[in-house]
Formats: sequence, structure tokens, C-alpha cells
Amino acid sequence: MLEQVPISSKEIDDYRPIIGDQRVDEIVALAKPLRGARVLHLNATAFGGGVAELLSAVVPLMRSVGLDAEWRLMVGAPELWEVTKAIHNLLQGAYICPTATPLASAIRRRGAIRERAIGACWTPEMADVWRCYNALTAERFEGTYDFVVIHDPQPAGVLAFLLQQRPELRVGKWIWRCHIDLTRARADVWDFLRPYLAPYDASIFTMLEYVKQDMPTPRVALIAPAIDPLSTKNVDLPAETIRDILRQFGVDPDRPIISQVSRFDPWKDPLGVVDVYKRLKRDFRDLQLLMVGSMATDDPEGLRYFELTARRAGEDPDIHLLTNFHGVGNFEVNAFQRASRVVLQKSIREGFALTVSEALWKGRPVVATAAGGIPLQVASGQCGYLVKTMRECVERTGELLRDPDLADNLGRNGRERVRENFLTTRLLSDYLQLFQTLGSHTSTRASTPSASRSRP
Ligand code: UDP
Repeated sequence: MLEQVPISSKEIDDYRPIIGDQRVDEIVALAKPLRGARVLHLNATAFGGGVAELLSAVVPLMRSVGLDAEWRLMVGAPELWEVTKAIHNLLQGAYICPTATPLASAIRRRGAIRERAIGACWTPEMADVWRCYNALTAERFEGTYDFVVIHDPQPAGVLAFLLQQRPELRVGKWIWRCHIDLTRARADVWDFLRPYLAPYDASIFTMLEYVKQDMPTPRVALIAPAIDPLSTKNVDLPAETIRDILRQFGVDPDRPIISQVSRFDPWKDPLGVVDVYKRLKRDFRDLQLLMVGSMATDDPEGLRYFELTARRAGEDPDIHLLTNFHGVGNFEVNAFQRASRVVLQKSIREGFALTVSEALWKGRPVVATAAGGIPLQVASGQCGYLVKTMRECVERTGELLRDPDLADNLGRNGRERVRENFLTTRLLSDYLQLFQTLGSHTSTRASTPSASRSRP
């Protein structure tokens, strides 16, 4: 039996004041023919990073509209997370193993080409580790479902192994949800993964650009991620609570703050964020930088990159590097994002960057690189700025620090943009539509015939 993630309870009706009655009614109607459908979401981790964030909202909401949804975790261990982080990096376009070639080390020394310096190896032994844990996960897989959504490359092989071991459990529709940008995926790693994706009925990508030409699934859906406006991380907070939390972490609520909330990961460019702050600090003497990054269980690079960032930050008492190990949870992230004059997202590559919608929802402007799904969220000049260079990043952030009214206006626009496009209710609706389109023609619930009869 695979570990089940406990989920909170959510009510679709609680979203009426946020998105309006009409949209909620549409969602309820969309869910009606799917009532009782058994849905499984399977991923690598219950904590840290965007996928866990998405599932913690959408799974309870699926239940609230009548689906029998659950969330389980693949079988994993540190040796697998080392391998899957490398797969993640290589699929996002890392080409060089820094320890393996002198050229790579030389590039790494030249911090200017940071992007190319993000390296990872790919060896037959690593492929074996990935296969081994996917086979083990398939062995522990129990039950049948109308819809199984497998998230990201970590457990992508489960279906293929299940077909070998117990094909009778391959009931209903299987969907692979890819949260990462495959545009520059390294060919040999993609060639390795691709056959494992062939048995899926459909795949989901955030953007059309991410879909490989030779994607083997018969159907591809485009669905952008979304945030939950009612989660502890995004719900409104009183100003005094925000100030209290800042003081608790030694941050002065009366001085300007810029922040980046992201795992300590080379693709998020935390070193670049420190550099931007240092340049701004010359003009804004009272500026503070908050960098918040939870350590996801499936991300072994986190601690290593936290240390690198701390080294770059040096002794400056106005730089606060915080993680879940310091007691930073969703509530604190919420307060930090709200307290920021400007929120940065200086990523080199992104799948989507939920943190951007989180900041915009809180009415804060975002200055960000145009990586991955960020341009979907930040309309440059309307709710923040998309920047290409360090210099531009410094200038735009400085502009917003100098003009708080402009910052507030852009933030307000951002909140409306998120309301329209990036709330979890829209994500729920997209899943329901996809499920309807795919249909699930085999009942998985012999004990509840009425539920299966009501299905399309
Ligand atoms: N996050 C968090 N605490 C942190 C850092 C990040 O809760 O210290 C959350 C963040 O608020 C967001 C998610 O982790 O909800 C990160 O998702 P995103 O899509 O931005 O990036 P990913 O980590 O998936 O690459």
C-alpha cells in the first residue's frame, strides 16, 4: 500500500465570494457526471515545492464536488531523490556534469554563465535506481481508479511496471502531468523516459512550448497551475499579525523589504538575488532582503545551495535567509510576501513558479525573469516587470521601491489577473473537463453501482 497523504477539508461554496456564484455553479455542474469517480494523484513528496502545494488544494476540492480523490506518494529514498533531481535538471536543460569534465569546472568558475554551469550526470546506474523505485512503487500499488494522475518524472515509470506486474490494475484513464519545461531536455534522458510515457492515455503540460514533438501520449492537455486563495499561505492577514511575524524573525517591519520565496536551487538563481540586493543597497541603505526556501524532501540540493547562498550573502544583518528549519511555514511565507515592497523571481528556468501568483494575489508587484510560466502570470508593465538582465532587475526594483503608489497599482492589477486565471478553482475546472473528455468507461467501484452508472 502506498503512503497516503492526509488532506484537509475544503468546501467549494467557500469560494463563492472570491470567484462568484456563476463560476462555482459551473464547476458543480461540470462535476455532476463525475460524482463518485475514484481519482488518484501520485507524486514524490507531500512537502515543499509547487506540486505538493497544488495537490494540497485541488485534492480536497475534488472531494468537495463529489469525486473520491486521494493523494499518495511513490516509494522513495535519498538515493532516488539524488537521481530524480538530476533527471529534473537534465530535462530542464542542464548539460554538464560539473565534477566530470575540466570544461564544466571552468564554466562553473566563470559565474557569468551560471545557467550552463548547472550540471548533472546521467549514468546506467542512475537509470537502474529510477527503475528500481518505480517498480517497487508499482508493486505496492493497490486498487483501481477511474483516473490516475502521475505527477512529474519521479514516478513516471509506475504504469509501465504495473503493466508488467499486474496488468489487471490498469483500469480507468492514466494521465502523466509534467510540471517542468522540457524545451531543452537532454536527448538521452528524454529518450530514456519517453517509452515509459507511451502507455498513458494523456499528458498535461503547463504550456504548449513545453510539449516535445515526439510526445507519445495520444492526447495532450494544456493546464496551468494555480494557487488556493483560501490556504494558510494565501488568505488575507491583518497588518498587525504581519508585523508581529516579521519582528519574530528579526525583520524590521518599518523598513523596506524585497524578497524571493523559492527553494534554494540553482535554477531559482538565489545568488543572483543576493547580487541584486547588494546593488540596490547602495541606494537604499535601509533595504532588507528576505530569502525564504523550504527544503523539499525530494530535493537534496537544497542544503548545499542554501550554504552557497549564505556564503554569497556574507555578514550583512539585513539579509535574512530562512527555511522551514527556522520555523517558516505557510503562514510565515504569507506574511513575508505581503510585507514585501517588491517580490523577485529571478529564475533561470521554471515550470510555472507558483510563487509569482502568490505574490500578485497579495497585491505585490513582481520583478521577474521571463522564464517558463512566469510571462503567463506577469504582464510586464501591468503587474510587475519582466527583466532580462541583472541591471534591468536592479533598475525596475529600484523604480518600484522609489514609487510605492506605482508598486501598489501594479500589485492591484496582479491580484485581478490571478483571480481571472490562476486560482485553484480554475485548475479544478480544467481537471474536470479533461476527465469528462477522456471518460472512464469501466466502473472501479463494484460496491457503489449508482456512482458508476452516473458516469458518462
Ligand atoms: N514555498 C514554501 N516555503 C518556502 C519556499 C517555497 O512554502 O520556503 C512554496 C511556495 O510558496 C510555492 C511552492 O513552494 O507555493 C513553490 O512552487 P513553485 O512553483 O514556485 O516552484 P517549485 O519549487 O515547484 O519549482
